[in-house]
Amino acid sequence: MRVNITLACTECGDRNYISKKNKRNNPDRLELKKYCSREKRSTLHRETK
Ligand SMILES: [Zn+2]
Repeated sequence: MRVNITLACTECGDRNYISKKNKRNNPDRLELKKYCSREKRSTLHRETK
């Protein structure tokens, strides 16, 4: 049930992180506060395809 996901910055669109999640535990899109290297600050990152 573990799938690879990409986390993209919701503000500039950069795909900064690759992660995995358990589809059964997290059926919805993940949203995490992460550091964006382009903007040099923490922004909300959202799971994308
Ligand atoms: Zn960004």
